[in-house]
Amino acid sequence: MNEPHVVTCPSCGQKTRVRAAAEGVPHCPKCGRPLPWLAEAGAADFGAVAENSPIPVLIDFWAPWCAPCRIVAPAVERLSQERAGELKVVKVNTDQAPALQERFGIRGIPTLVLMEGSRERDRVTGALNLNALRQWVEQRVPARPQTHQSVDSTRQAPRGSEALRPPYF
Ligand SMILES: [Zn+2]
Repeated sequence: MNEPHVVTCPSCGQKTRVRAAAEGVPHCPKCGRPLPWLAEAGAADFGAVAENSPIPVLIDFWAPWCAPCRIVAPAVERLSQERAGELKVVKVNTDQAPALQERFGIRGIPTLVLMEGSRERDRVTGALNLNALRQWVEQRVPARPQTHQSVDSTRQAPRGSEALRPPYF
């Protein structure tokens, strides 16, 4: 479960192995930018992967049979890219981690829990789309302007215009 993931740098395309648990935010060895940090955790490594994270963590409690979870999955993955260096995304399969499900009192999935250190900041249950999830996180963990690379927020289409809508939905 703690196998390093190969991550492609969104800025320069460099492929890098990123570990699920680390003391520092992973950075691209070629261009130096922070890399998206998307990890999986179970009961055994939750402390190392989530609670000891150097940056805030968005935990995605999901299960393979859960249809709304498939709406959330690409949104949290996208957020891990947009908020690289500021937000870590940790996916917890509740089928494989009933102890974590019980500890967090998860009654329905998908449930997203925002944590800083071992402290829960907030949670939301249900299928949020990317825009709703982005706003929800932004209100709790504001983006640092100098590192926020979101293409969508810098190319806002005027109200009523469909032309520059992101193609995710
Ligand atoms: Zn790079």
